[in-house]
Amino acid sequence: MARVYNFSPGPSRLPDEVMERARDEFCEYQNTGASLIELSHRGEHFLAVNERAQMLMREVLEIPDDYAVLFVPGGATGQADAVPLNLAAGRTSPCAYLVTGYWSKRAADEGAKYCKPVVVADTADTEYRTLPEQWHEPDDVAYLHYADNETVHGVEFPAPPKAKAPLVSDMSSSIATRKVNIRDYGVIYAGAQKNIGAAGVTVVIVRKDLIRPRAYAPRVWDYARQLKNDSMTNTPPTFQIYILALVMEWIKNKGGVAAMQKQSEQKAEIVYGALDAGFYRCHVCDAAARSRVNIPFFLPDESLLAEFLQGANDAGLIGLKGHIVLGGCRASLYNATTVAAAKALADYLCDFARRRG
Ligand SMILES: *Cc1c(COP(=O)(O)O)cnc(C)c1O
Repeated sequence: MARVYNFSPGPSRLPDEVMERARDEFCEYQNTGASLIELSHRGEHFLAVNERAQMLMREVLEIPDDYAVLFVPGGATGQADAVPLNLAAGRTSPCAYLVTGYWSKRAADEGAKYCKPVVVADTADTEYRTLPEQWHEPDDVAYLHYADNETVHGVEFPAPPKAKAPLVSDMSSSIATRKVNIRDYGVIYAGAQKNIGAAGVTVVIVRKDLIRPRAYAPRVWDYARQLKNDSMTNTPPTFQIYILALVMEWIKNKGGVAAMQKQSEQKAEIVYGALDAGFYRCHVCDAAARSRVNIPFFLPDESLLAEFLQGANDAGLIGLKGHIVLGGCRASLYNATTVAAAKALADYLCDFARRRG
């Protein structure tokens, strides 16, 4: 099996060990004579998988018992609706938003359907190259929402921002890449397809005392109902939850989140090293705001882009095309991307710069 180095922003690379295990178990799951993908979500085999995914998430991310772990549909996009639906008290309820890029801006805009977003800081004037230093959080907000890592613009909070209200973190692109203290957060949400699995399941970690019955919330996004129903309010994405369990087990066996963090720092250093050497231009220059996970960058001349991407492709490096709002290129270095992949990318970057510089 020829596997390329994949720098896609998501869906993205899965660990080889996970792929191989899923392949070996795909057609027949544990002597059932059927694939897990064909089995009832109410049956013993899937129930065991669901429980294992929960337990492994709790163990690997060190999630305390007073936090619920929910598996829901709709992606992080859905959580931009689900968060205000569950945590705000209604359309006039003020909720604070930090806007530091594409995704946090979209969450604030979407929130306006269900609450009164108060944008307490917005770094648009720096073209989302920086993190806000200070802001005023009103006393009466239901929560403060931010994006831990801006996947498009490449800015990352190295530590949780200060908040008086419960902190809501979109960790779609950074979950399990860095050790965090779950107690710093009211809600953490993440689509699985970047660091912890495949598209189709969204993980929501929520402090239980924030969960209130919300009869008007769509039932699949009603935290109280999903908690009560063990995340099986509708047919869950059974295969994605199975993949999630395999990835969490892989992270655990690799040395846990601490090992992912160490590797993540190494990979970022290798790639930024090549990008900062002169030829390329990074979107984010401030080292304190730079993402370890998504690195948007530009060639000195856009007319080189097609040649750069084609050459990368020929060298077995895929997924480097930038997001449509920024253009240029982007390298995404999620958990399953190895240090060897980062080195191969750095070699290509240096080689291309030498040839075209
Ligand atoms: C990918 C991403 C999203 C959107 O996720 P979907 O699963 O496509 O809904 C939202 N926020 C961040 C930070 C992301 O990286």
